[in-house]
Amino acid sequence: MAGIYIHIPFCKSKCGYCGFYSLPSTKLKDRFLEALKQEIVQRKDYLSPSPVCCVANATPKAINTIYFGGGTPSLLGTNEIGDLLHLINTTYSVANEPEITLEANPDTLSLEYLEDLRNLGINRLSIGIQSFFDNDLQYLGRKHNAEHARQCLDWAKQVGFENISIDLIYGLPTSNAEQWNRNLDIFFSYNLPHLSAYALTLEPNAILTKQIELGKAQPINEDDALRDYEILCSRAAENGYLHYEISNFCRRGMHSKHNASYWFGTQYAGFGPSAHSYDGNSRQWNVSNMEDYCDALLSPSRNNGACPPVGKALKEKELLSLEQQYDEYVMLCLRTHWGIDLKWLKREMSERFSDYCQQQALPLIAQGRLTQTREFLHLTDRQMLFADGVAEELFW
Ligand code: SF4
Repeated sequence: MAGIYIHIPFCKSKCGYCGFYSLPSTKLKDRFLEALKQEIVQRKDYLSPSPVCCVANATPKAINTIYFGGGTPSLLGTNEIGDLLHLINTTYSVANEPEITLEANPDTLSLEYLEDLRNLGINRLSIGIQSFFDNDLQYLGRKHNAEHARQCLDWAKQVGFENISIDLIYGLPTSNAEQWNRNLDIFFSYNLPHLSAYALTLEPNAILTKQIELGKAQPINEDDALRDYEILCSRAAENGYLHYEISNFCRRGMHSKHNASYWFGTQYAGFGPSAHSYDGNSRQWNVSNMEDYCDALLSPSRNNGACPPVGKALKEKELLSLEQQYDEYVMLCLRTHWGIDLKWLKREMSERFSDYCQQQALPLIAQGRLTQTREFLHLTDRQMLFADGVAEELFW
């Protein structure tokens, strides 16, 4: 099993709170797509197991999930998305019925566009709605309005999308408990299988952070986020949603398979500027700069034809020691409903790691900060919000 992530680094404009790598224009789209296709082909062996001794033809890993993230992937034309899917299908060994997700923003969606996406084989939509209230959307610097957000959900259902997720943001100073509850009411009224809900955080270089520092935007209050998180946990449970990761809720069996692969150490290749990849032993991440990314892939003369290019670096790489792999496993699994599997640690990493983890866990369990159910160490809904602090105490 393996996954492919494609980062589409364009947006109509920059949202106030955004910390992702994206450009507020599509001016460089054609050159980017050319470079992206190069990368998809050049790195086709990344997900194949390394040949051991004389095993020359190691079987490539089947791709189970493909994820178009961003940025705003729905700024691409459906012909461009279709070309990328065709290239992936002809370059990689893609499993039957892979999960294919596309992140979309309401301001880029129409009925026809959604119908075309469906016909291309996109079978999961993740729509960046963020709020069903215009005052929240204006505060966040989003380009759509609440009415259009609801219209997009109607269209997506009309053209046959069943696996739809939306993003909502809570802890906003423009909202209150009543408005957050009404946001959730609207989400539940659509009976969608998946919700990603995030507390608003202030990214160091985001526009909103600077506006707040200058007194030009309302500051955020951590207590509002805690209040909304409590409401979210209770109402999601009452409505039959499984809280399977700090920020993610789903109907049973409808979790994001692609995102779950990040939490469970499945290999994935990330293409596009700033995209991350993991091959089981090392992580690597592409340069977060469009010009450098395109130059590295499209100007081999700069590098005397060397591969990987040496002129402008395409990527950085970090080999993970066993101890670092243990820390990552602990950190990622603790954020999920499934938690840390001590049996898995013993089987895949050795008794040294499972014993260490169990020992470190004992005081946390005694303090009520961690829960153990048979071989699993996990956090309850409310404990999950403090996952990072608990993970630190379990680290090697
Ligand atoms: S649409 Fe998403 S990626 Fe683009 S600026 Fe807004 S938050 Fe950032």
